[in-house]
Amino acid sequence: MVSDLLERLSRLPLRDNLRGLEPYGAPQLDVPILLNVNENTHPLPAEVHQAIVAEVSAAAMGLNRYPDREFTELRERLAGYLGHGLQAENIWAGNGSNEVLQQILQAFGGPGRTVMGFPPTYSMYPLLASGTDTAYLAGVRSADFGLTADDAARQVREQAPNLVFLCSPNNPTGTALGLDVVEAVYAAGEASSTIVIVDEAYAEFAHTGTPSALSLLPGRERLIVSRTMSKAFALAGARLGYLAAAPEVCDALRLVRLPYHLSAVTQATANAALKHVGALLANVEDIKGQRDRIVEELTRMGLKPAASDSNFVFFGGLEDPRRIWQGLLEAGVLVRDVGIPGHLRVTAGTEAETTAFLVRLEELLTGGGATAGRS
Ligand SMILES: *Cc1c(COP(=O)(O)O)cnc(C)c1O
Repeated sequence: MVSDLLERLSRLPLRDNLRGLEPYGAPQLDVPILLNVNENTHPLPAEVHQAIVAEVSAAAMGLNRYPDREFTELRERLAGYLGHGLQAENIWAGNGSNEVLQQILQAFGGPGRTVMGFPPTYSMYPLLASGTDTAYLAGVRSADFGLTADDAARQVREQAPNLVFLCSPNNPTGTALGLDVVEAVYAAGEASSTIVIVDEAYAEFAHTGTPSALSLLPGRERLIVSRTMSKAFALAGARLGYLAAAPEVCDALRLVRLPYHLSAVTQATANAALKHVGALLANVEDIKGQRDRIVEELTRMGLKPAASDSNFVFFGGLEDPRRIWQGLLEAGVLVRDVGIPGHLRVTAGTEAETTAFLVRLEELLTGGGATAGRS
């Protein structure tokens, strides 16, 4: 069936650089405990839900007209939320930060150009690269998945890419980069005029005191910091991602965006939510607590969790991650196999969800008839 589809696909006049590729495909399975795509597992607070319903209802009255193409109110609210002296002219938004990242590649990448990432990192970077016909250059991390300023800067100097993705905190490893890495990569890209994108999708979950690359924006017109409302703000379904950068970067993105790309419904949803930032972020501390609990418990079980500044934990030390993934699924817990030998990734859930994950994992590791899963 699948091979039949692939066979028919291959007969279409598809662009050469898309041939043989597979689409983004984290499984969307119908199980009770979904800890596989780093969503916020806590439901929207009632006050936020009510505010969204009211504002969307009002917006619905005007759906015969195109929305504000410049989403001015939303850019003002996002600038206010980010702080750092940012103004509406520094902000750009799209239907998820994935769309924003794609627009960046449409404007600054494309045929004959290159974008560099440092795997293991966000699996969408190479897909966004092929979608825009930008060549993807895979940088190298150390064996423990770390990336130092010197090492990253040297690779950028050698490869001179048109763009660089730095994911901080990094998905799937969860660890934040020091600002020294961002500064060094930016400086190394001076000669090649490299655009440096710091993807801070998980910034709100970082340990207190972890600095944001937003603080580096003044005076750096090639630096872009992207954020999303999909994770900490519990609004993955609303599709709203955004960036902060020099105003001329936003002007460049106006050249490639589709007209009226942010619907009136999306703008109303995001504006309503941003009037209740306190309530929205109230669950973040709770999720950070569950995240720290997972790291502690996995360590106690003899596994090797990476330091996490995000709402998920990447852990190694598994002899047979596929068996553990399957065993968890049979207990109604879906986690992510990111294809790295010996490792799995789990999103921090509510307290009850996290408990269900930890209890089942320990059963799987200690046998219960099956072979132990630790290496
Ligand atoms: C989840 C995630 C995003 C957010 O994607 P949206 O399109 O905003 O939902 C961006 N970057 C990384 C690294 C992510 O893990």
